[in-house]
Amino acid sequence: MERILRKCKQCGRDIYFEGICVSCRAENERNRILALPQEEIDSAVGRICDEIENTGELDKERDLFGKLLNYRDINTSKIARAAFQKDLFYPCEMYKDAPEDVVKAMLETVKRDDTDSFLASRLLSCLAVYGGEEVFQTFLELEAHPRKWREKLYVNPSSYAAIGGWSYDSGGKFLKTNFDRCYPMVKGTPEEKKRSPVKIGARTGEKCPRCGCEIVNLMEFDGRDPRLDFLGIGGVIKAKCCPNCMEYMNGDFCRYTVDGESEAVFGRDSFMTEDYIGEEGIEELACNSYILGENPVPLRYAADWEGGSSVGGFAFWIQDCAIKNCPDCGKPMKYLAQIQWDTVMDGMEGNAYIEICKDCQVMAVLHQQT
Ligand SMILES: [Zn+2]
Ligand SMILES: [Zn+2]
Ligand SMILES: [Zn+2]
Repeated sequence: MERILRKCKQCGRDIYFEGICVSCRAENERNRILALPQEEIDSAVGRICDEIENTGELDKERDLFGKLLNYRDINTSKIARAAFQKDLFYPCEMYKDAPEDVVKAMLETVKRDDTDSFLASRLLSCLAVYGGEEVFQTFLELEAHPRKWREKLYVNPSSYAAIGGWSYDSGGKFLKTNFDRCYPMVKGTPEEKKRSPVKIGARTGEKCPRCGCEIVNLMEFDGRDPRLDFLGIGGVIKAKCCPNCMEYMNGDFCRYTVDGESEAVFGRDSFMTEDYIGEEGIEELACNSYILGENPVPLRYAADWEGGSSVGGFAFWIQDCAIKNCPDCGKPMKYLAQIQWDTVMDGMEGNAYIEICKDCQVMAVLHQQT
């Protein structure tokens, strides 16, 4: 079949079908959900519960659930009860506001030796999303005294905890792995970009020792802007990395100062040699028009396909939630920001993620795609 080049009827970008592009469709759907009056949200929650009660699954209304959760931060109490009655534990976000008796029952099951490993991993995820002191204490206890089901899981409860935005260090000290505020990156004019306290993809002129591609500041944050008070950074920090080979690495690190100085730290496993991005790609990245949004949005606002780039809140992990341990202090880092690649570079897939350890002044940059 011949591919005919057309224009998106909404934004004008090149597409190969009649109609509007994927990102415009996502934007329209987001605007629709944002405008829903409360009674329609209530009836949508009713439909979600009905599906779970009637089929034991969340399939048809899965997308609706995700969008109501992300854009409207709905209370999930009724959904959690319906899901629990059907032994349905995926997606784990259904349990965000689970009723107390449901949480108690889940905690009891996960403490048993004879709980199935797969079920245990589902329960850990759901409990992580629910959070709270009792869940935290239970995770500590489960990690100190692993039950039989732990043998078949790859990671400790502390890694599951990060799905809910928290974790703990090896001494059992509670740590947040997410910031409790979220701002979207939105399109702006070149003038607005100059004033934006967050910028994506600034050129540095330095070259990557592994592949020769230009190193960029994947994101720059000016913590002196009041919107970024929640970061607790009284200066400018820059997440420096090679955008070409980060795709092939299991996370790169950079050291920073709050004066805007940073140095990319390259691991010794330097196997990448070819630069697939080139001058043209770097220029395209640097010319993006994204600026920090004026107002905060719900924490999971960008935790979705086509969620776009954002600072704080929850990431959209295309693979598993990947909170790194700081290379210096060994503690779990804190998720800081994500960039949806195809919004800044045509043809790039997936997301980039930035994490931070403020104690050690280290940032991690990671890449995930399908
Ligand atoms: Zn479009
Ligand atoms: Zn490189
Ligand atoms: Zn550290």
